[in-house]
Amino acid sequence: MIQNIKKKAFALKIEKRAFINGKYVNALDNDIIHKVSSIDGRDLSGISSCKEADVNIAVDAAKKSFEAKIWLDKLPQEKKEILFQLADLMEQNKEELALLDTVETGRSFKNYYFDSIPKAIQTLRYFAESVDKYYDHTIPPRPNVFATITREPLGVVGLITPWNDPLVVAIWKFAPALLMGNSVVIKPAEQSSFSILRVAALAQKAGIPDGVFNVVTGFGETAGKALALHPDVSGIFFTGSSDVGKKILQYAGQSNMKKVGLECGGKSPFIVSKHCNNLHKAAQVLAKNIFYNQGQICSAPSRAIVDNEIKEDFVKLLIEESQNYIPQDPFDIDTEVGCIINKEQQQRVLDYIEKGKNAGAKIITPCDVDLKHLCVLPTIFDQVDPESSIAKEEIFGPVLVIIGVSSMREAISIANNSKYGLAASIWTNNLDEAHQVSRELQAGIVHVNSYGDDDDTVPFGGIKESGIGKDKSLYAFDEYSYVKTTWVHLDTI
Ligand code: NAD
Repeated sequence: MIQNIKKKAFALKIEKRAFINGKYVNALDNDIIHKVSSIDGRDLSGISSCKEADVNIAVDAAKKSFEAKIWLDKLPQEKKEILFQLADLMEQNKEELALLDTVETGRSFKNYYFDSIPKAIQTLRYFAESVDKYYDHTIPPRPNVFATITREPLGVVGLITPWNDPLVVAIWKFAPALLMGNSVVIKPAEQSSFSILRVAALAQKAGIPDGVFNVVTGFGETAGKALALHPDVSGIFFTGSSDVGKKILQYAGQSNMKKVGLECGGKSPFIVSKHCNNLHKAAQVLAKNIFYNQGQICSAPSRAIVDNEIKEDFVKLLIEESQNYIPQDPFDIDTEVGCIINKEQQQRVLDYIEKGKNAGAKIITPCDVDLKHLCVLPTIFDQVDPESSIAKEEIFGPVLVIIGVSSMREAISIANNSKYGLAASIWTNNLDEAHQVSRELQAGIVHVNSYGDDDDTVPFGGIKESGIGKDKSLYAFDEYSYVKTTWVHLDTI
């Protein structure tokens, strides 16, 4: 039984300095980032605000460690043991990690402790376990001639992460990157740096050599940009907004054409056909996936595209379900949904709600609930113009738009009329419809009669402006390596 969450949160000793070459260090200019907690307004200032000069030191340490092969030359079994050790240490420190993330992001402790952090640890173990079971290839094109196709590490790899699920996204990236033999420099979001800074010390304790695992804290425009532009960084892997994703591509082009992986935003459609036999389940799953974590989930289904024949019944069920996601105190162990990340994000979401009203859409969820923390109520808009900004742009908040359609053709056309292509869903009990719609949906992940399915064995990633490349699964090893072909000729004996 976990007790005194709030008291423990107040008592936390929080490391806020960057972790470079095995040591916590201040930014060279001693600059720090000022911010306050979204839960109680408490001062959270003090994270080192690294600049280009700090990034250069981190990249240099990573480069030296890579060239010295202190990590690269470890056997796959040794790397695996060390990452298993890190997973064990994270498990032992799970409560502290969950508290750090709660304090800094305002998402509920329950989410972090029972869901997000266990998932991150499980992913770390999945990758560690796979590394010596993943083979390269040999091809014999002619007698006495063969070619090997091997995956080689990139070298120094930069990893830039967002704030909405700090450790999950970091592990999706650093676990396969390290297991391929790379040295990493991680730039966490300035809104969520505490837990990865703590993990850096645990990584060192687990046996990851100094210089191999670095964390540079700071703003995106300074630390993130310097990392993405650095000529000694051979790969940059980013999760965040599509606008910044496009900048990352530019930085790669302006510098050394480094390999780029992008996991960006979404405006994912959730189609409900008149052939869906379980509208109640569809409404439950939709409400959970759009309102969980205040809608701050990249793959959240933010567009419900519903057949007009069943729309009225479906919407009634959906309004009821939405009321299970009213934000509460993040420190309460029963709280499902906590705060929104900060005032700016809250204002951004509220501005979108105003735009929706001004465009003639109608809010159909209750608006008179008394909120004690920084958050936004679950908001459902009906009578939405598919061309309006609330229907087209990523809001990254608890806002759902409902668009009525009179055929599956129309549903597919509206679903695909988006610059994004992360996830999508079709709810139907008609087999032909399920197959045809899922094939036609333009998305990296399609769910049939479900949403948000998640497993380490399955790749995650989008198309169009939702990104390039895959996180998770064995496909992730391909991201953090390049493919080398080696021709071998044998003399006849
Ligand atoms: P963001 O793009 O503002 O920031 C993401 C990261 O990029 C942060 O570390 C930030 O400091 C850094 N950054 C910002 N500007 C930069 C620049 N010019 N150069 C280099 N780095 C820079 O995104 P966010 O607000 O932190 O996260 C929300 C966004 O992330 C949403 O769009 C969401 O959809 C997306 N996201 C996508 C996935 C996915 O897997 N597809 C997962 C989580 C979040």
